[in-house]
Amino acid sequence: MAVLPVLQWPDPRLRMPCGPAAADDATRGLARDMLDTMYAASGRGLAAPQVGVLTRVFVMDATWKTAAHTPEIFLNPEIIWRSGTVATGPEGCLSIAHVLAEVSRATEIILRWLTLDGAIAAAKLTGFRAICAQHEMDHLDGILTLDRLSPEARALAEVEAQR
Ligand code: ZN
Repeated sequence: MAVLPVLQWPDPRLRMPCGPAAADDATRGLARDMLDTMYAASGRGLAAPQVGVLTRVFVMDATWKTAAHTPEIFLNPEIIWRSGTVATGPEGCLSIAHVLAEVSRATEIILRWLTLDGAIAAAKLTGFRAICAQHEMDHLDGILTLDRLSPEARALAEVEAQR
């Protein structure tokens, strides 16, 4: 088990696009450490660039705060469909302390990804899993919740983030 430091905005590594991940031992170790880090930070999602690794990997556990643990690991995720229905809600981010940003996201997506065993997987995600996956996938492209706010809301959120 290894809990890694979580990079904080405005660390420039949070702005870098990530490269493809391989289903190998290095990624298996990374994913394990990312889950340890996510639970230790009391989060429900974490992307590799948040721990300084510029690889297309994110982890998520949508249920552990209220029910059983359901850790999920996604390599090279791609959204292959998104619903026309959009919902706006507050999103925290382990890399942007103190800020809950009101972000609009598709309420349902179909995600395709590579598993740690090297298999192609696909699933329809709804509810919190859909929102969280879109948030984490933004991280893989160097995009933060702050970028999805109006200029006014962003300015206020950036002040909050420095507190
Ligand atoms: Zn985040």
